[in-house]
Amino acid sequence: MIEVKTRDEIELMRESALIVSRTLGEMAKAIKPGVTTLQLDKMAEEYIRDHGAEPGFLGLYGFPNTLCVSPNSQVVHGIPNANPLLEGDIVSIDCGALKNGFYGDHAYTFAVGEIAPETQKLLQVTKESLYIGISEFKANNRVGDVGYAIQQYCENHGYGVVRELVGHGLGKKMHEDPEMPNYGKRGKGKKFVEGMVVAIEPMINMGTHRIKQHLDGWTITTLDNKPSAHFEHNVALLDGKPELLSTFAFIYEALGIKSDEETIFRKEALIL
Ligand code: MG
Ligand code: MG
Repeated sequence: MIEVKTRDEIELMRESALIVSRTLGEMAKAIKPGVTTLQLDKMAEEYIRDHGAEPGFLGLYGFPNTLCVSPNSQVVHGIPNANPLLEGDIVSIDCGALKNGFYGDHAYTFAVGEIAPETQKLLQVTKESLYIGISEFKANNRVGDVGYAIQQYCENHGYGVVRELVGHGLGKKMHEDPEMPNYGKRGKGKKFVEGMVVAIEPMINMGTHRIKQHLDGWTITTLDNKPSAHFEHNVALLDGKPELLSTFAFIYEALGIKSDEETIFRKEALIL
């Protein structure tokens, strides 16, 4: 059952999402060759707690850390460890926070130093597909419209769209109805209604869409060991249109990137 949210609840969810957004901004500052993913995890946990929230993933379904950190061929659910990131790596960081009883949950794939042009392209196309998906999250559309748009865009670039892992409704639970696959058919699936909040999160592989799970029970990698990217936003359906609750603005501020990609999905200018 879809749990629609009131305006007041959506404002609380915005607060949770912005804590995650700021945490990812801190990650952007810290990510460089030599830093370990466990160091990033500790920084993120401290930052979230210092801002009056709880890490959303720690202990969820038994997950052992604050961040899911997934470098290179890891798709999602990587466990932080003592291995340093290397120049030319990419690293997907997925982060959750719980405040006022509501979850924020979003993700960004970072470049570590200089990366190969074909890897940069994967990141760019995956992020573009996220916004293409978000623009389909509107009144009278259905779950399949978002999935179809993401899948078409990524497959037209020759990339693989992961099937086994999907976006989701978000609220008092990390994973609520409906499931939001990154593939699908136009006009199929549950209809979007005012007050819904979802996490839209394309997981896109440079090669095959097929994946494998590691013996640790968590880490997912691509079957062909080619790189994978993951971008995730939290979006509310308000006045029939998608409105972003999360932002990459703190990441861009840290990295000195100018971007207006979020502008059309915001009602008002974001105050940093
Ligand atoms: Mg996530
Ligand atoms: Mg999610």
